[in-house]
Amino acid sequence: MERLVDSFGRVVNYLRVSVTDRCNLRCQYCMPADGVPWVPREQVLSFEEIVRVVRIMTELSITKVRITGGEPLVRRRLPELIERLSSLPGLDDISLTTNGVLLASQAHALFRAGLGRINISLDSLRPDSYASITRANLFGRIKEGIQAAVEAGFDPIKLNMVVIRGVNDDEIADFARLTRHSSFEVRFLEYMPLDGYGNWDRTKLVSGLEILERLRAVGELASIQSGDPSEVAQKFRLQGFQGQIGLILPVTAPFCANCSRLRVTAEGFLKNCLFGQEEWNVRDLMRSGGSDDEIRAMIRLSVFRKKAAFGGLDLDLDRSARNMSQIGG
Ligand code: SAM
Ligand code: SF4
Repeated sequence: MERLVDSFGRVVNYLRVSVTDRCNLRCQYCMPADGVPWVPREQVLSFEEIVRVVRIMTELSITKVRITGGEPLVRRRLPELIERLSSLPGLDDISLTTNGVLLASQAHALFRAGLGRINISLDSLRPDSYASITRANLFGRIKEGIQAAVEAGFDPIKLNMVVIRGVNDDEIADFARLTRHSSFEVRFLEYMPLDGYGNWDRTKLVSGLEILERLRAVGELASIQSGDPSEVAQKFRLQGFQGQIGLILPVTAPFCANCSRLRVTAEGFLKNCLFGQEEWNVRDLMRSGGSDDEIRAMIRLSVFRKKAAFGGLDLDLDRSARNMSQIGG
């Protein structure tokens, strides 16, 4: 089988598909309070178009797909898409990243449809702080969503926390303690300059080293080797604890050298990096009658043009023009 290999020899096998740019939260680190203009619905890829692109990619070297957004669960009939993707030969891992707001009613249907893994974003364990970060008073709903995901059978469930100085960094230890009696993997993410409107600055960044220091105050940390060179999280376990801890440090310990990712935005642009400024319009190609061969050629080109790191940006000088919800986090 032909493999997707970029000009640095990195093999691309992991696709992140955004199914919507819309969201029911307004997290401070991702969106402005008034939101961002939504992409008109007719410009968003249909399920047929998503399945076609993913099918062509699985005929190349893509074996893993993560569904994201915006908030993927606001896309209607999502379990139907999961079911269709899970019948594609060669796709052996389908995962989802969600804010959990709508998970209580959808977790079982998603599991039955073939969703393998789920990451839930949870930035605070305090309802008031959660409300201030997400600009929505929905902490109770997320708790129900997490419970429903456990009951549906997802295991382990990953909980993603973006650590921001002065906002939630005092909760690092509390989050780590969640792994004492549960199989949760708690993942601490460094705050990235990807808010599209300039909220980020280095003073708000809590580095991985600092996060580790705070974790060592909870207990003895043992490193876990995953054996997968494209794994972005550095993994640990606190001694005597059941669950794991993951550190995702795109700012201070970037994983670009082992990057295996490609992205499709909700409106059907291929992106070869979260920070990348180049985009390839696979939607228009499909809608103008493009053949599978032409789509394959576009995919190969986008992979070949992957930059060595950060999409060629200097994080101290440049800013991505789009925020995470628009790219597909
Ligand atoms: N709405 C879903 C959610 O929040 O999980 C999926 C999309 S969201 C853009 C994907 C992930 O990106 C979330 O875990 C979120 O916390 C993270 N994220 C968004 N903006 C970020 C930033 N500036 N720095 C680090 N992580 C960010
Ligand atoms: Fe929405 Fe996810 Fe962005 Fe929060 S991080 S505003 S939940 S897309």
